[in-house]
Amino acid sequence: MVHYVYDFQDGDRDLADLLGGKGANLAEMTRLGLPVPPGFTVTTEACRAFLATGEEPEGMSAELSRHLSTLEKSAGRLLGHPDDPLLVSVRSGARFSMPGMMETVLDIGLNDASVLGLAKASGSERFAWDSYRRLIQMYGSTVMGVDPVLFDEAMTLLKEARDAPDDLHLDVSDLAWLVETYKRLVRDETGRDFPQSPAQQLQQAILAVFRSWNAERARLYRRREHIPDDLGTAVTVQRMVFGNLGPDSGSGVAFTRDPATGRPGLYGDYLANAQGEDVVAGIRDAVPLADLERLDPRSYRQLRDHAQTLERHYRDLCDIEFTIERGTLWMLQTRIGKRTAEAAFAIAAELVGEGLITADEGLKRVHGEQLGRLMFPRFDTDKAGAAIAHGVPASPGAAAGTAVFDSAEAVRRGKTGEQVVLVREETTPDDLPGMVAAQAVLTSRGGKTSHAAVVARGMGRVCVCGAQDITVNTGARRFTARDGTVVEEGTFISVDGSTGDVYTGAVPLIPSATMRYLESGEQANAVVAAVARTLEHADAVRRLEVRANADMPEDATRARRFGAQGIGLCRTEHMFLGERRKLVEEMILSRTQAGRDKALAALLPLQRQDFTGMLEAMDGLPVTIRLLDPPLHEFLPDRTELAVRVASVEASGGQPDAHDLELLDAVNRMHEENPMLGLRGVRLGIVVPGLVAIQVRAVAEAVAERVRAGGSPRAEIMVPLVGSVEELRLARKEVARVLAEVGEETGVPVRCPVGTMIELPRAALTAGRIAEEAEFFSFGTNDLTQTTWGFSRDDVEAAFFSAYLDKGVFAASPFETLDREGVGRLVRIAVEEGRESRPELQTGVCGEHGGDPESIHFFHAVGLDYVSCSPFRVPVARLEAGRAALDVTDTGDSR
Ligand code: PEP
Ligand code: MG
Repeated sequence: MVHYVYDFQDGDRDLADLLGGKGANLAEMTRLGLPVPPGFTVTTEACRAFLATGEEPEGMSAELSRHLSTLEKSAGRLLGHPDDPLLVSVRSGARFSMPGMMETVLDIGLNDASVLGLAKASGSERFAWDSYRRLIQMYGSTVMGVDPVLFDEAMTLLKEARDAPDDLHLDVSDLAWLVETYKRLVRDETGRDFPQSPAQQLQQAILAVFRSWNAERARLYRRREHIPDDLGTAVTVQRMVFGNLGPDSGSGVAFTRDPATGRPGLYGDYLANAQGEDVVAGIRDAVPLADLERLDPRSYRQLRDHAQTLERHYRDLCDIEFTIERGTLWMLQTRIGKRTAEAAFAIAAELVGEGLITADEGLKRVHGEQLGRLMFPRFDTDKAGAAIAHGVPASPGAAAGTAVFDSAEAVRRGKTGEQVVLVREETTPDDLPGMVAAQAVLTSRGGKTSHAAVVARGMGRVCVCGAQDITVNTGARRFTARDGTVVEEGTFISVDGSTGDVYTGAVPLIPSATMRYLESGEQANAVVAAVARTLEHADAVRRLEVRANADMPEDATRARRFGAQGIGLCRTEHMFLGERRKLVEEMILSRTQAGRDKALAALLPLQRQDFTGMLEAMDGLPVTIRLLDPPLHEFLPDRTELAVRVASVEASGGQPDAHDLELLDAVNRMHEENPMLGLRGVRLGIVVPGLVAIQVRAVAEAVAERVRAGGSPRAEIMVPLVGSVEELRLARKEVARVLAEVGEETGVPVRCPVGTMIELPRAALTAGRIAEEAEFFSFGTNDLTQTTWGFSRDDVEAAFFSAYLDKGVFAASPFETLDREGVGRLVRIAVEEGRESRPELQTGVCGEHGGDPESIHFFHAVGLDYVSCSPFRVPVARLEAGRAALDVTDTGDSR
């Protein structure tokens, strides 16, 4: 028999799929004996059934009634009773935390009669009317679809009329007037009355929360966070406790450690005489939790003890929402807390040090993207001049951009590649697209637990919030700093999320301490020491080797410092950019063998020198050198430019330059509609005589030179864009011939493994045959993605990927994160069939996916020997390869 409703006493944290994170953790806290107001959870299964059919699943309503009566019995009151009403909250709670993305309705059970009962029972008329106006406001917008701005406007008008700086200055008659105004608003906007039946309020609120799973902002958030769309949300129904009952009541948010730095100790914000939502929304300014110690020492001590219980129990940083009702502390929520990259490493290392978690668990707690973030530079404050404003450093890092004042403008400018800083009084979930588009977020209100702070931290955006010394004028699209500086939209500002400082202009950046450690081994602070220990552990447990893609000796040297175990891809065409491009142009365009030989001969010493440098930088480690693979157009003069030059000389009656004419003729002859799929890779080697030979000769001579210098060169030769074993056979024959030739000339026998890239579906599908000729496979997943999807890799991302992402065709660009289902399947087939025909076959990947955390987990699972990525991604890949070996299914819960 399916249960759609679980009492808090019947669940636990392992039921998060069914009860959502909030419901499962409320159940867990109840089991731990912490003071949780009683309640129950409607399951995600009920939500899924409702969203699929538009109807409540059968039996849900009967179960609800049963659980409600239990709740009423335990409270000794009935929902919405006119004398002394029980009130409940209805909150969303999905499997993965989606802060502020879905709906909540508080104070359910109030109506024109029970508001009077509540006033009497609580002894506070003001409180009763304040609660009632909150209910109509939340219910009206969430359940009945009234634009929430209309309620805010009515409130603002009233405050202005009463000259009240905030809602605390409104009295009973003001609030009663507001209730009538809100009710009228609901009627005018919807044609229906605010419902007086408590049972109807409860049922409709639950269904509205179900529906909010599919709200636009929730969908957008899920896409960004890679949360599946089909999970649905659970709904918790809980007895209301009140933080707005007077000065001895209040609500707050606490972390068991500082989520920005990871430092131990209770940390958070408290707002006296307020409901939970007020703290997050930044309606009034919260005080630090330390002040609660002074205001209510007993509750503070209890909170500290409960926080410790939770951290010991969950063995991780927890965040907590709590309410104090007339001196009694209630725990309303806990979950594994989101944290900055710094804090993630610091906390993991500290918990390992405390023996609370193992080194393996410590490694699972951090993520490659977080490490990537720590490798960012920060501002050089010596060169910054005076800060014009200071706020709460809510999400670290440094970023500069032009100030913009709403989400739509941030998105508009962001699309053109402009770097922007979104400046708001405070953010709401509707600002999410702007936050995604911005480099940084700056707000004038709210603390470290405000929406802006929580969301920015999760996304790794720089954020300074609560900068009270600026006045934001969204209408006029400017803000004014205390010193009188006016920043108009479009002005460049710099935001330091680590210190909270804001500067005008673009402040110069200095490298990160983590980067300095990677470059020099220096461990400048505790976070860097934590990174070092975590990377060491990742290296100890990982099976995948990590190589780098590099074409220059300096890049190879840096990659080695960063921990690369060789070069997985040296793109030799990159060695021919700049001045050398001319030589390749001559070689390609030459019609005679003699002309071609001359160009090739000029290239040889340059190539030899490049390879010698690379082999020296990676002495003792493998260096995979790929034969020339230029999309031809990259090396030819621009066809249009040439044609225009010739035509304009002709038009003015002159005689075009003979060389230009010859070039134009050749360029026309070699023109390709789609050069990415044209004369590239092995095809070029086969049709341009001497090309493979000169490159292999350069490799072999470089190897001989390094051997004579006492080195241990380990060059490997890689053939690109192979589709058929025949192509590889031809190339390999030529390689063998030249290697033998150079061996004889130099007296140094040169042995280079020869392998191929797998970057065409045909290569993957005939991998068994191809492995007969290949000592290694390296998956070129850039081209393999292009050719499997039929996406022109240079065109599609800008052209229509944003539409595809919006419409959910895929959750991430397949050029960034490997498409496991399609491209991944080809990789799997090729590995299996390649190994079947050659058991000792080495396999790796050198497409961009080699540095992408999620893809690395796939490459580990499919059994590759190595991943190869850009030098700056090498530390990230080491970390993720370690995590992959621990079989982490990354839920991203704590990020
Ligand atoms: C690839 O296609 O994945 C690859 C590494 O080669 P390139 O990006 O140079 O085409
Ligand atoms: Mg390629």
